[in-house]
This record gives sequence, C-alpha cells and structure tokens, in this order.
Amino acid sequence: MNYIQVGHPLLTLVPADHNLQLEKLGEGTYATVYKVGRSRTTNEIVALKEIHLDAEEGTPSTAIREISLMKELKHVNIVRLHDVIHTETKLVLIFEYCEQDLKKYMDQHGDRGALDPNTVRSFMYQLLKGTAFCHENQVLHRDLKPQNLLINRKGELKLGDFGLARAFGVPVNTFSNEVVTLWYRAPDVLLGSRTYSTSIDVWSCGCIFAEMISGSPLFRGRDNQDQLLHIMRIIGTPSDAQFQKIVKETPELQIKQFPRYAKMPFQQVLPKASPQAIDLLEKLLKFDPAERISAADALSHPYFTTAVASTPFGLNTSPATMPPPSFNFPHPHGHQAQQQYQQQPQPQQQQQGQIPSHMHPYSRPPVPIYNQHPQNTDPMTAAAAQSRAHAQAIAQAQAQAQAQAQAQYGQFPPPYSHAPPR
Ligand code: ADP
Ligand code: MG
Repeated sequence: MNYIQVGHPLLTLVPADHNLQLEKLGEGTYATVYKVGRSRTTNEIVALKEIHLDAEEGTPSTAIREISLMKELKHVNIVRLHDVIHTETKLVLIFEYCEQDLKKYMDQHGDRGALDPNTVRSFMYQLLKGTAFCHENQVLHRDLKPQNLLINRKGELKLGDFGLARAFGVPVNTFSNEVVTLWYRAPDVLLGSRTYSTSIDVWSCGCIFAEMISGSPLFRGRDNQDQLLHIMRIIGTPSDAQFQKIVKETPELQIKQFPRYAKMPFQQVLPKASPQAIDLLEKLLKFDPAERISAADALSHPYFTTAVASTPFGLNTSPATMPPPSFNFPHPHGHQAQQQYQQQPQPQQQQQGQIPSHMHPYSRPPVPIYNQHPQNTDPMTAAAAQSRAHAQAIAQAQAQAQAQAQAQYGQFPPPYSHAPPR
C-alpha cells in the first residue's frame, strides 16, 4: 500500500481507505499532482497539491503567493488551505477535498455541458460570493475558469488555484498582462491593460455564467486578437467615443482598428436564459471595465433576489434560502466510501467574515431534485430538451453572425480551436 511519509507533527497523512489512496486528481500548469489522504488529526479527507522544487531556483513565487493569500482567505466559497509542508524537494499544500471541478461537473452532469437553471443560479451565487470576498480582502483571483472552481458533494462551489492571484493593495501599475486564461480574459487585459482591477474577475464570472447556461465557452479565441474579435462579434465593437473614454482611463491600451460589429442580443445567443439572467450577464460583460458591475452588487441583482416559481420554497425564495444544487453525487468510490464520508463530523468553523452556520445560505438540507419541480415530473428531460434547444440556437446565431461578418468585412473566422487554453 502506498503510504505518504511526511514528517509533519500536526498532520500525518495516510490513505483514506483502499479506494481513496493517493489518487491523482489533476495536473495543472506547474506540474502539480493531487492526491487524497485523510488527516489523522481532523479525520477530514484532504487534497494534496505537490509542487516540486528546483534545488537551484528555490520555492516558486507562484507557490508563495498562493500560500500566503490562501492562508488568510477563509470563506465557505474558497477552497480552504489547511496546512503547508515544506521539504527540500517539494512543497505540499493541504487543501480541503472537493469531488470535482466545475468543468468536469458540467461534462458529467450537464446536458452537453449545460446545467439546469436552478444549479446555474446556485453556482453563480456562490461564485460571486467567493469572488466578492476576495475583492473585499484586496485579492484578485485573475484566473477564474471552470477548471479552477471546485464543487464538493454538498453542492458547494469553491474558488481554487490562487497561483496567479495577487493582492492589489499597492502598486497598481506593474501587473503582468499575461494572466487570465484566454477564453475568460477581459477585453481590457487583451488590449494590454496593466492597471486592471477587480473587474477582470467579474468578466470571467460573466463568461462562466454563459458557459453554465449554454454548455460551451462563450468566447473561444485562438490568440489575443482573435479573442477580442470573438467578444466584439457578440457584445459589439465599442463606438469611437467609448474607446476614447476607455483609453483615457487606461492610457497604455493599444487600440487598433476593429471591424464594427453590432451588438448581438444575448437573448439570441442564449435563447432559453431568463430575462433576469440576461440582464445580469449584460452587466457582468461590459466592454468598459469601469461600467462592469461589482461582484458584491451582482449578488443583489434581481436574478438572485426575485422569486423563482419553480422552487419548492414558495414565492419568497431568495438566494439566502436557496439550497445547493441537489444531485445525488455519484461518489467515485462507491457506497462504502460515501457512508464513511457522511459519518465524518463536519465542524462548521466560524471564521472571521464567514457566515454563521445557522445563517449559512446553503445550510438547508439538500432537496431531491425532483421536488424542485412540482409541476414537472421529469425535470431532467425538460432541462435536457431546453439545453439542446440552447445549443441549436447558439449554433444558429453564430452561423448568422459569421455570415453577417463575412458579407460585411469579407472575412470569415477560422474554425474554433477546441484545445483549451492554458
Ligand atoms: P494548477 O495551478 O496546476 O492549474 P489547480 O490548483 O488548478 O492546479 O489544480 C489542477 C486540478 O486538480 C483542478 O483543475 C482540479 O481538477 C483538481 N483539484 C485541485 N484542487 C482540488 C481539491 N482541493 N480537491 C479536488 N480536486 C482538486
Ligand atoms: Mg488550475
């Protein structure tokens, strides 16, 4: 059996059980590996992120950033960093364990990636809540994307991978402009802004919102320029006056000539999204960063605060009483492991800035998904049909936009690159 030998006085990790031992969960940019173990002291299942250290170069700065930021950020919607083990050859970060990232969740539970409206609303609320908490604490995430959002079996969504995050206290003008992954990258960053702020995370939240609704990434560019064109084809090319205002606020921006695309109504791009969802999306995806809504303000948007008739909690349902998406999480390690997991005590630590557990927005016990649709006996089928219609409508709208662009500018966007950007 594969035990991990780590000489740490507080946390000795052992394989959780036969199925959960040293499982590789994912590999990311910095040759990191995740494994699962159970903490002997807390009995909690944890994920390990191993960062191999180069003897010459020492501890990578990204790791140091991640550690110092995450140790302080304690919130239910942010992956908890329990501990750090620093040896000569590696750095092991011990995180709370989450069953899946949002990308895998959408692939497995979505209808061709598209999630049902209640799940989208709950995940979006949690995403904005975690993002607002970062921003309140002067932290920019800078790399929000489905692969960096983790979902646990309680349906809690948590921001993870703070490798690119940094505090934005002082100074503001030295940020590298190679940050957010291309598809989720804000137009001001694509145009060369180095003074971006919290609004770049808000843009990424907007992209993730659209992706959860439709099942596919909203803007899939191949490079900076192509990414900007993808954005403009949908939200429209800013007018000269708008560009002038943006450049005045961010003088280092490089504004080239862009084709003049008219704004495409989001309703056409995401035909089945509710008017309130569309309204929120519009506010998240403003080209001008100064006009983008803040994560904190987005949380009180009517999309979250207005009653949703299809929930079982009556007309006064607000996100504060909204349950997490209720799904029977197919536990990858079978019934036994699931039972063990459920038996574990789950102490709700009351941290500064955290919601007391009795007021926790997701403290309501999960409700079977069928109960959420009293009028509809088979919501999954209904949701599936809805998502298929979404996908068709998007394909149609994109084809229309492409034909329009070709007629207008004689250029035809090359086929999408399906390789996810790093
Ligand atoms: P990188 O900085 O290399 O991108 P990440 O922190 O994003 O590393 O982790 C890579 C992948 O590992 C994630 O996309 C996710 O699938 C998985 N993962 C990360 N953290 C956890 C965790 N706490 N629990 C379970 N899986 C995780
Ligand atoms: Mg990552």
